[in-house]
Amino acid sequence: QRIEWQKLQDKPSVTKDGVHHVLAANIGTPEDLTAVKTNGAEGVGLFRSEFLYMNANNWPTEDDQFEAYRTVVQGMAGKPVVVRTMDIGGDKGLPYLDMPKEMNPFMGYRAIRISLSKTAIFRTQLRALLRASAYGDLGIMFPMIATLDEFRSAKRITKEEHQKLLDDDVPVGDPQLGIMVEVPAAAILADQFAKEVDFMSIGTNDLIGYSMAADRTNERVSYLYQPYNPAILRLIKHVIDACHQEGKIAAMCGEMAGDQLAVPILVGMGLDEFSMSATSILKTRALFRRLDSAKMAVLADKAIHAGTNEEVIKLVDEFVF
Ligand code: PEP
Ligand code: MG
Repeated sequence: QRIEWQKLQDKPSVTKDGVHHVLAANIGTPEDLTAVKTNGAEGVGLFRSEFLYMNANNWPTEDDQFEAYRTVVQGMAGKPVVVRTMDIGGDKGLPYLDMPKEMNPFMGYRAIRISLSKTAIFRTQLRALLRASAYGDLGIMFPMIATLDEFRSAKRITKEEHQKLLDDDVPVGDPQLGIMVEVPAAAILADQFAKEVDFMSIGTNDLIGYSMAADRTNERVSYLYQPYNPAILRLIKHVIDACHQEGKIAAMCGEMAGDQLAVPILVGMGLDEFSMSATSILKTRALFRRLDSAKMAVLADKAIHAGTNEEVIKLVDEFVF
């Protein structure tokens, strides 16, 4: 099968009826680019910038970050790269960051919440990203956005740094600004967000956990971590529809984007971009070629009107496998 899939490395990511959906890769370091290329990704849909912070003994400098981002953007040779700003906190600590001891770290001080309170650190990262954006197609994505005000603040700070760099004659691009949709409040309010952001990427790993109030690493409740629960599917569809209403791109970068049972439903919902670990790209491209968009739209409609996770799994089996 691997050999069959490998033949699809340079083939377009289209369904049986010729509808194109972007297949992109999630990466953690610039070294991951090799696998991105051999697996024929059309872009990087999520570059988790945390590694820069976690592999260091102190806050990474603007120049160190710039080098890493530029390496990735140039390595992708004009293909789009979405870099997510620092997503520290939750289970990801830093030796040099004194984090408060929290009862509930996943609902605590993490990601954009840290960036917006430690703005000097945030501005350093943004300057590095803005400078790297002069070398290719780079988008900036903010993690764990819960309110419009958070996005507006992040955008305002980005624009301020952009202007400062321009004033100093430093080469910069004009990156698109987007959000991760992984907090249920942002998913529900997607119609409002869609008017202000350039793109959204659904982070199902966190979105499912927060929506079901279940931690998948906790064995006692992991059965509640249900990607195909119609409640989750409705939330996802609402986000996709909201994006399309405003002419914006709807992407997904959680595990679900490469989940072979979920892909047919997501195709039926019209998700524009699927970003996943590089090793899942070719098998997903192979799956696309077996799917008919109109039929998958019927499947998606049935799935959101089903009652349980198991019912949806059965539906996908009937429609596809
Ligand atoms: C997600 O939450 O789906 C996601 C892609 O972010 P991470 O897995 O890095 O938390
Ligand atoms: Mg997440």
